[in-house]
Amino acid sequence: MSVMDLLAAVRDADERHRIFAERLEDPLAYEVEHAFHFSAKDNLCTSDFQARAGSRILEGYRPPFDATAVARLRQAGGLLIGKTNMDEFGFGSFSTNSATGVPRNPYDAARSCGGSSGGAAAAASMLEGHLAVGVSTGGSISCPASFCGVVGLTPTYGRVSRWGLIDYGNSLDKIGLLSASSGMIRRYLPAISGPDPLDPTSQVQPPLDMSGQIRSVAVPEEALTGLSGSMRAAFEDAVARLERMGVEVRRGAMPALRFALSAYYILATAEASTNLARYCGMRYGDIEQETDQSFNEFFSRVRSRGLGREAKRRILLGTFCRMVGFRDRYYIKALQVRELIIREYEEQFRSVDAVLTPTMPFVAPRFDEIESMSALETYQADFLTGPPNLAGLPHISIPCAYIDGLPAGMQLVAPRWEEGRLLSLAERWENGFEYRRPEGRA
Ligand code: GLN
Repeated sequence: MSVMDLLAAVRDADERHRIFAERLEDPLAYEVEHAFHFSAKDNLCTSDFQARAGSRILEGYRPPFDATAVARLRQAGGLLIGKTNMDEFGFGSFSTNSATGVPRNPYDAARSCGGSSGGAAAAASMLEGHLAVGVSTGGSISCPASFCGVVGLTPTYGRVSRWGLIDYGNSLDKIGLLSASSGMIRRYLPAISGPDPLDPTSQVQPPLDMSGQIRSVAVPEEALTGLSGSMRAAFEDAVARLERMGVEVRRGAMPALRFALSAYYILATAEASTNLARYCGMRYGDIEQETDQSFNEFFSRVRSRGLGREAKRRILLGTFCRMVGFRDRYYIKALQVRELIIREYEEQFRSVDAVLTPTMPFVAPRFDEIESMSALETYQADFLTGPPNLAGLPHISIPCAYIDGLPAGMQLVAPRWEEGRLLSLAERWENGFEYRRPEGRA
């Protein structure tokens, strides 16, 4: 496809599904041949677009540099076609907390794409041969991958440099990849992986071993409570199919999973509340010009106007959890739960190659359903994606069924650095799985 045709297809998909916060419009500037096209979630800095991370407070911020992952994909021959819509700073599961546009599900525009990398999943779903760079803190790659019928890989914490990523929760944030099937992810995950002197949390790591295999999985019983009836049935069908493929399935228990969600929301909001302090109206984006106000007035004005409701809620929650008097009860306790979860995964990996659960408890909800959900109900949707993120373990969401025409995903979690075995299983699964692509895909 020529760049001209590609950009026409991108415009068309964007007009129908509001995928991009900003996108490439001028094909003439890009006459060189590119090996592939990719997009970056809007919380990744790139030198050619604004980086607003879905927030009004970053309106107009144009970074002077590329995030390492983006720079590496350009070096690998990629053409960056735009920045994808997302929940503000990654706060959400439906991409509805966005100041730059709420993406609409490729299978039904009255439904959510999931979040917070909703635009990324929609781009992967709507555009043939596309690679979308997403970010997960507590499930933001798996969730939209499940809702949009694409493959989403979240690597081991430390595998991909976070340099140039606008932080949500530094101990949790991971840059990963989404695509319509696993092939593009297999091909380009090595390009973005590896240590980076600019990010001290990136790690020296074993090379990606794409020959790894999954011969056995554990399905923890805790994962099967709270699912919609149709999701449960679809998941059991997928389990049966895995067994026919020769994968041994063991039913097990991981009791700490019950506490994972609470621990995740305490740790993630605690970290987020400190990260958001830098948006003070003086450095980036929305700059407050009236400097003759008192200290409190100045910061309150810019933050009241620039931050959305969910961001404010998280500042309050996170600050509360870190406060003297509450810190031991919430923050420190949550760290202990995190440790327990890591140990439970280690325990599972002594006898199986991966842990298998559904990705989300239901298919993509309609926007009117989301509006009537409380904050707590939306948080509960993440009960299966939170645990591997807390543990920093690589995980993948693979489309496993269509329920009334809407896609549903299953999620596999592997030991540290074992992304290769997740991708091998995805490839094997795809050999027997019939994808149903959304209408109007280009
Ligand atoms: N839905 C979760 C949250 O709102 C996870 C989002 C994410 O991974 N960025 O925190």
